Amino acid sequence: MTFKDLRLKRKLVKTLAEKGYESPTPIQQRSIPAVIKKRDVIGSAQTGTGKTAAFALPTIHRLSRAKKRVRCLALTPTRELAVQVFEQFSAYSAATSLTCTIIYGGVGYKQQLEDLEKIPDIVVATPGRLLDHIDRGNLTLENVEILILDEVDRMLDLGFIDDVKNIERMCSYNKRQTLLFSATIPESVRKLAEWALKDPEEIIIGERKSPAQTVDHSIWPVDPLQKFNLMVALIEKHQIESMIIFCRTRHGSDRIARWLQEHKYPVSVMHSDLKQSDRLRALRDFKEGVNTILVATDIASRGLDIKGVTHVINYDVPQHAEDYVHRIGRTGRAQTQGMAFTLASPEENAEIARIEKYIDGEIQRRKLDDFSYRYDPIPQSKPVRKKRNRGFQR
Ligand code: AMP
Repeated sequence: MTFKDLRLKRKLVKTLAEKGYESPTPIQQRSIPAVIKKRDVIGSAQTGTGKTAAFALPTIHRLSRAKKRVRCLALTPTRELAVQVFEQFSAYSAATSLTCTIIYGGVGYKQQLEDLEKIPDIVVATPGRLLDHIDRGNLTLENVEILILDEVDRMLDLGFIDDVKNIERMCSYNKRQTLLFSATIPESVRKLAEWALKDPEEIIIGERKSPAQTVDHSIWPVDPLQKFNLMVALIEKHQIESMIIFCRTRHGSDRIARWLQEHKYPVSVMHSDLKQSDRLRALRDFKEGVNTILVATDIASRGLDIKGVTHVINYDVPQHAEDYVHRIGRTGRAQTQGMAFTLASPEENAEIARIEKYIDGEIQRRKLDDFSYRYDPIPQSKPVRKKRNRGFQR
């Protein structure tokens, strides 16, 4: 199947060919026709499956020409995801007259105000700052024809449910189309979907709970005191071009980053205690390869599309089983092979058990051959006693 077969406008097909996209991914194959037919959509697909283009392309197709009204609102849970969605909307709409603006918190109002004064066709926003602008009368949502709610599970985790509901109510255009995307669709997301969507087409691609098949993921049992040394040994052993290390806490990420810097590794750090400008710089340095290692909390585990991440290390086992799938999904994206190592101390066995239950499979335990463990991390099972020879001959 090609993008042309999906009946996208010629300009869009040309832009995609220039970007080197050869064929639509499975979620795009199903979502693009549904959106073009003006259906509401509830979509779930694993990270890195082309989810953003699955809603951005048919939206651009439908809006087609600039009309000096805000006609599409894409709501995302985090600023980083907003940047990513905005970048894709801007790239795909480059050959059209549509204009696109991004609105998020943690930065000044001036630029955003100037952008809103020009009345963009497409607004990509995080909920809090968007509501601020609406309160100040800087934009209205009454002409929004297409409302996109992205990474809704994360949006609800972050406590945005009331904001999302408020914003949804403000999008009062009577023929509004709503597209809801979420990596997973738990009951809370389904409830919101029932509330905001009309007779949606449900598109579920692949196993919702399983890690991508392109990720080789394993558990490395280790004494907590040896975690850092084992991690350094793993980094040394593998040719790591681009790696994300996930830590549970902000404090933990700072500490690991500092230790790695002391070992002369080029490191960026990203967590929610940092200023927005520092977060964006950390991400940019990592994306551009200035720093090959990004140490982060779960703020980076969902949705962020960073090309060419070859390895993920979970320095701490994630507390929520879903986060395991999100974290290791940062590598092995778009058909490339990735590796994910989870360092697990005995105290984290309960979390590991929860993850294995969630993904419905056992994760392979591995140990590093020439590393001097304080104790055997994977003790051999007891030797099988030979059956007594009772004198029978074979
Ligand atoms: P997403 O799942 O939206 O985070 O997208 C993952 C990555 O795949 C992004 O870098 C997209 O630019 C890229 N991508 C999306 N659709 C296609 C396609 N049909 N062919 C090749 N790459 C794609």
